[in-house]
Amino acid sequence: MQIYIIPLEFDDEEILDRLAISLKQVFKIPISYLPLEIDLQAGWSYEREQLNSTWLLTQFLEKCPNGKSKILGVTVYDLFTPILTFLFGEAELGVRTAVFSTYRFEDKRYGLPENKVMLEERILKEAIHELGHTFGMRHCKNYDCVMHSSTSIEEFDFKTAKFCADCNAVLDNKMTA
Ligand SMILES: [Zn+2]
Ligand SMILES: [Zn+2]
Repeated sequence: MQIYIIPLEFDDEEILDRLAISLKQVFKIPISYLPLEIDLQAGWSYEREQLNSTWLLTQFLEKCPNGKSKILGVTVYDLFTPILTFLFGEAELGVRTAVFSTYRFEDKRYGLPENKVMLEERILKEAIHELGHTFGMRHCKNYDCVMHSSTSIEEFDFKTAKFCADCNAVLDNKMTA
């Protein structure tokens, strides 16, 4: 098994490379990049000016041949689903695909100066969270656990990039199953 990172117009290679190293430490499986040709316009809502997150996950499944790998898309565009006005990311629970957006992780969205350290930390948390879902992990009630569900950036920033003891045990189980 391995994890493929699919950059979708997110082009900060330094951040991506460090993300790959961190993810390898967390999930202990190989990580590589998979450049995919996806016509993002087909999933773009001109009315909302956002990208359809669920549509993206289907694109990954259609275009990725290996049935065992996990697929993590990283996009710069703000994401929505038909029932959510925005989301940081989305994943299929216990299956293969996940995607997240860096859009709301940029401090400039909140009227603050650019902060690359913060951006990178948020990206790491979100990547671990969504990949956790693909390994079958559900949301956690512990506010500081990376599997906690966040609806605002304040809530998001409160959690850490780490699994709590309960979630760690669940992950260990899933990885050795
Ligand atoms: Zn979640
Ligand atoms: Zn937890």
